[in-house]
Amino acid sequence: SITLKTPSLSYDIHIAAGLLRTLYPRLKKLYPAKKSFRPIIVTSENIWALWSKDVLASFPEPPTVLFHPVGEKHKRLAAVEKLADQMVEAGADRDTLLLALGGGVVGDLTGFLAAIYMRGIPYVQLPTTLLAQVDSSLGGKTGVNLATGKNLIGSFHHPLAVFADTNVLATLPPEELRAGLHESIKAGIIYDPKLFKYMQANAEAILAADPAALTKVVAASVKVKAEVVGLDEKENGLRMILNFGHTLGHAIEAATQYKQLLHGEAVAWGSIAAVQLAVSRDALSEEDANKIVNTIMTYGPLPQFRADAKRLVTLTAGDKKRRSGRRAFVLPKAIGTVEVVYDVTDAELLSAANSML
Ligand code: NAD
Ligand code: ZN
Repeated sequence: SITLKTPSLSYDIHIAAGLLRTLYPRLKKLYPAKKSFRPIIVTSENIWALWSKDVLASFPEPPTVLFHPVGEKHKRLAAVEKLADQMVEAGADRDTLLLALGGGVVGDLTGFLAAIYMRGIPYVQLPTTLLAQVDSSLGGKTGVNLATGKNLIGSFHHPLAVFADTNVLATLPPEELRAGLHESIKAGIIYDPKLFKYMQANAEAILAADPAALTKVVAASVKVKAEVVGLDEKENGLRMILNFGHTLGHAIEAATQYKQLLHGEAVAWGSIAAVQLAVSRDALSEEDANKIVNTIMTYGPLPQFRADAKRLVTLTAGDKKRRSGRRAFVLPKAIGTVEVVYDVTDAELLSAANSML
């Protein structure tokens, strides 16, 4: 297990194959002072159909289970309110422990529900997608979408613990697995050259969802995020490096109305563009650039998309990561090292955007 330490608190992130089957005693350990606690699970029906047996294996009596519909379009305040009402009906109080069993949608929404229900109750993340295991379940960002934009309402609310069972990744649709792996490649590029090398050399086992290989990749990726976030909880400096590939990645998602590409696929395109930009500045060697692009392609195929390069550049201006009128850009310098720069021009971005189209 890896401990995420922030100035305000610290908690453990457990990563192993088969964790769900021994969940109950692990949860109990989080509550040493209390004789009993009342868990309520929030999940979606498809995930429950696949993994309820494992979850229930260690429970002395079946817990309350609340279902949330599948899909990004349901990550909305209305769904939070509906779940909160169901919690009241189920008798939930401040001793209730919410368990978020699902991908990033269930995790973000349940975390937010926990943040505001009775002004805040504890929760645990049980991430079931690769993206949720390596990214969205860590860092304490919770929230929902507005009609006017993604993740515009939310709060920082850290879970008591994260339990990532790598067995569950076996039932993930292959494109979801590949998309999540692009976030792991990103973790390697920005901070962990060994992880990058491992992913370069073991693509076959990783793409076949081999539990041992995935446990390695998830653990290394989590370590990167835990270290970076731990050093910079509220996103002032270092945490920005996690945004590698995301400046243009977010622009692609917005330009295609979040419909053509999965998030990880857009990030992969954005990473390739960032590499081209770095090479054209002589900030990154051709050799490292080729390694990065080839490794990303090994975890492809990346779907093509249609967008206007100028529009992509315009969209980067709306990126939340832009500070005081300056656009932050994460520039790769070598495999394992990046730098945040503020002097990337629209012309450079335009030619990087063109390199993807
Ligand atoms: P998701 O939650 O929509 O899950 C993807 C699909 O996989 C869904 O259909 C889901 O039902 C299904 N699924 C989940 N686990 C499964 C399993 N084990 N087997 C079979 N099917 C399974 O998508 P996601 O990619 O996990 O998360 C995306 C969300 O995460 C976005 O809303 C994004 O904003 C958010 N996010 C948050 C953070 C953060 O820091 N909080 C970071 C990155 C992304
Ligand atoms: Zn991302």
